[in-house]
Amino acid sequence: MSEMINFNVPPYAEKAMDYIRECVKAQKICGDGVYTKKCSKWIEARTGTAKCLMTTSCTHATELAALLAQISPGDEVIMPAYTFVSTADAFVLRGAVPVFVDIRPDTMNLDEKLIEAAVTEKTKAIVPVHYAGVACEMDTIMEIAERYNLIVIEDAAQGILASYKGRALGTIGDFGCFSFHETKNYSMGEGGALLIRDGQNVENAEIIREKGTNRSKFFRGQIDKYTWVNYGSSYLPSDMNAAYLYAQLEIADEINRARLALWNRYYDRLKPLADAGKLELPVIPEGCVHNAHMFYVKVKDIEERSAFLAFLKENGVMAVFHYVPLHTAPAGLKFGRFHGEDKFTTRESERLARLPMYYGLREEQVDYICDKIKEFYSTP
Ligand SMILES: *Cc1c(COP(=O)(O)O)cnc(C)c1O
Repeated sequence: MSEMINFNVPPYAEKAMDYIRECVKAQKICGDGVYTKKCSKWIEARTGTAKCLMTTSCTHATELAALLAQISPGDEVIMPAYTFVSTADAFVLRGAVPVFVDIRPDTMNLDEKLIEAAVTEKTKAIVPVHYAGVACEMDTIMEIAERYNLIVIEDAAQGILASYKGRALGTIGDFGCFSFHETKNYSMGEGGALLIRDGQNVENAEIIREKGTNRSKFFRGQIDKYTWVNYGSSYLPSDMNAAYLYAQLEIADEINRARLALWNRYYDRLKPLADAGKLELPVIPEGCVHNAHMFYVKVKDIEERSAFLAFLKENGVMAVFHYVPLHTAPAGLKFGRFHGEDKFTTRESERLARLPMYYGLREEQVDYICDKIKEFYSTP
């Protein structure tokens, strides 16, 4: 195989050009247009959330959630250190302290058994991150949140069309945040969505997303003049971006099926190596339906991973590592703290390698990658 196999190719659906052309021709490309509404209605119908507001990114959806949760200076927010910077940034911007808790080695998700010990009088929220579209143990997390009166904001950036005990990720906590960045299963280039579980939070969310104005109400004809009613920012994506995304949402099931087929193919072909103790494969706990956002393997340690990634690269395969835990980064040291022992966060993150996964990756490419991995482990 001579061509390079990319790690990611952003998803694209044929209809996107037609839909974008339609927006441009109508000269309606600003926020909350036809396609933005189609996307949010689609997400509401598919997830069952009370309200979905499209945003300019998942980072912004999380910032919006932090504002809605009234996160204030000195508040503590419990989250994993094995995550993308945005998970912490949204709360650091409000002056809060990210309190990092260790992850479970099987799913790379926040270890629900360690959360309660990290709760203090200052704790305001828990932010579970559904890594690779595999759910955190939400029953336990919601039970702790209820007992200590904490807000739950799900970072479901990778979790679209995945579920926990039959409930869509992003709909279980008070707020859920989706990403439509080009590295995610469905993309609008840059974009995201905020899912709001309870109806009473919707009006304020619309206001904050519209620069602190009641413009959304005005557009619905509920008031005859809009005005500045609260603090806010600008989190509306252009309708052109939503048009690009909507074309994919229309074929979302096909994209999901294709990704899952690739994921299963990787799993089956690498299973003998896992059985021989050479590497570890992802674990999907009972009750979790994942969305094949990612296929990763875990090798022995960071040295083996460097050799593994280099070997694949020499053979034309772009495999990559993932997060460097936030508590070890300069900003993590400055703004946050790790509660308890880092037993798995650093160790497991150093062993993880992600293999190419995208809509359009071919089965024979997966077979080639798996053959190369077998070769890596059979070379002395
Ligand atoms: C991609 C990602 C984000 C950020 O999404 P953007 O839409 O790029 O802001 C946040 N958290 C996690 C876990 C992600 O994977």
